[in-house]
Amino acid sequence: MPFLAIFLLLALTVSLVVAVTRLRAHRRAVESLYQAVERRQRLLREDLPGALGRPWDNLCATVGGLLDEVAHLRQLRTGQLAQLEATLGSLREAVLVIDAGNHIVLANPALQAIFPRATRILGERLELVLQSATFLTQVEAVRRGAAAPQQEIEFVEGDHSTWLEVTGTRIPPLDGARGNWALFVLHDVTRQKKLESVRREFVANVSHELRTPLSVIKGYVETLVDGHREIPVADREKFLLTIQRHTERLNSLLEDLLALSRLESVNPGLRREPVGLATLLTGIVDDFRARPATAGHDLRGVLGAGLGELSLDPLKITQAVENLLDNAVKYTPVGARIEVAAQRNDGEIVLSVRDNGPGIPAADLPHLFERFYRVDKGRSREKGGTGLGLSIVKHIVQLHGGRVWVESTPGQGSVFYFSLPAGGGGIEKLIA
Ligand code: ADP
Repeated sequence: MPFLAIFLLLALTVSLVVAVTRLRAHRRAVESLYQAVERRQRLLREDLPGALGRPWDNLCATVGGLLDEVAHLRQLRTGQLAQLEATLGSLREAVLVIDAGNHIVLANPALQAIFPRATRILGERLELVLQSATFLTQVEAVRRGAAAPQQEIEFVEGDHSTWLEVTGTRIPPLDGARGNWALFVLHDVTRQKKLESVRREFVANVSHELRTPLSVIKGYVETLVDGHREIPVADREKFLLTIQRHTERLNSLLEDLLALSRLESVNPGLRREPVGLATLLTGIVDDFRARPATAGHDLRGVLGAGLGELSLDPLKITQAVENLLDNAVKYTPVGARIEVAAQRNDGEIVLSVRDNGPGIPAADLPHLFERFYRVDKGRSREKGGTGLGLSIVKHIVQLHGGRVWVESTPGQGSVFYFSLPAGGGGIEKLIA
């Protein structure tokens, strides 16, 4: 009996030792497998000492399969993210995602291009980046699913205003967060808006300019038709002269409008040829001096040496210089001095028309070359001005690759300049 008991105790002890050893080996195998999974490393059962039997084979194979799947999904996600980033980056439209707390969670580079003054965008609150109460209302409406599909919104940053066509849609939040997110596509329509307003303003200006002479002509013609027998001859002549003056005004307006529209067209008809600038300018000054309107003015030409030949359209450059001379004569009193000058200056020829007339207030100078801009509307009309002369000069000069500018001191006179591209150097020579 005691022998049997001893045997049983021995057998029990041996089984216990074997079981504990096995358990330890499994624990080590589980630990190694866990670390391999952490490192995303595939393992075979042979790599795990102590992992014995089919269940370990199956476990290693299943874990390996899962690791492969995770690697594949990661690769797919990286690829898709790269594609999405490239797509968003190449869009001209700005794309913006806003979370339920009005924070910007996604923005593409176009948004930064549209709002260059925004230093930080991602993670910022919307109202700190895009300052528009209308847009904030639109965001709320989109979240509620109650927004108009598309809206044009003006964003004002200091003195700069940007018009965007905004399309928004509600999207589910990421990671099961609460509340709705909103996705917006913003298309910059500032240029179209500006063009539209320039066009509207132009049509309004032209209509206004045409209406005055036409209504004067209509009024006098009706008077003459109704009472041509009773109206005294002297009055009739006065009426006819008025009609003639306003017809001429209409004619100049139409000619200037046609000239402008040709200059602004795709094919402005620039006919360049080699032209001796000194000869061209001397001819213009001489012609002008012979005009009756210039009789009381002291008109001179001051041309630099070595002006040489330039490739330009002589008729158009003549028109530009004549427009400047015409203004200098129109807006200065009899006896005023007018000087046409040209000289080489750093690879360009600078032409100028200087007068010692009343000058122009500083506030008007930046607008002078705009269509229909006049300092004194009444005086311009009385002198037969159309408000288009300087705009025509600007277009002609720009077509030749040059620029225009003006300097003026009220009470002392004005100098209108334009440049034409050229090369070389020279000194002044008085020619008249
Ligand atoms: P306009 O047909 O009215 O002369 P312009 O475009 O030629 O139109 O000139 C615009 C305005 O600039 C004129 O109405 C006038 O007020 C001002 N201006 C142009 N040249 C002179 C000048 N030499 N001296 C003073 N004012 C001038």
